[in-house]
Amino acid sequence: MPNCLFCRIIRGEVPSKKVYEDDQIFAFEDLNPQGPTHVLIIPKKHIAGLKEATPEQAELVGLCHLAAARIARDRAIEDGYRTVLNVGPKSGQSVFHLHVHLIGGRTLHWPPG
Ligand code: AMP
Ligand code: ZN
Repeated sequence: MPNCLFCRIIRGEVPSKKVYEDDQIFAFEDLNPQGPTHVLIIPKKHIAGLKEATPEQAELVGLCHLAAARIARDRAIEDGYRTVLNVGPKSGQSVFHLHVHLIGGRTLHWPPG
């Protein structure tokens, strides 16, 4: 998607602090971190959000979560972290390219706001 912010980050047209990349996934530091660790994990293929994902994309969505788990392990925050997908404007979704937030490194409260 030419004008999608996260597609532009993947292409290197918008700078980001890359955390991880493979042929299907890209991960980078969130610009406005909500904890000591706040990484966004995204599929390289443009998917607008979880509600737009198809059954054929189930593996890709799963791989984003498994990448989050690996990053959490590497950063030694496995005592407590959260993976979050905001879905739809009322949830606060502001970028319509599916992304898993990995937030950790601090105490996380429940329920979230
Ligand atoms: P959401 O509100 O769930 O759509 O999440 C979008 C996230 O993208 C927010 O946490 C923003 O801080 C983050 N964000 C927006 N622009 C950038 C950027 N250029 N680089 C890194 N993170 C960004
Ligand atoms: Zn995109």
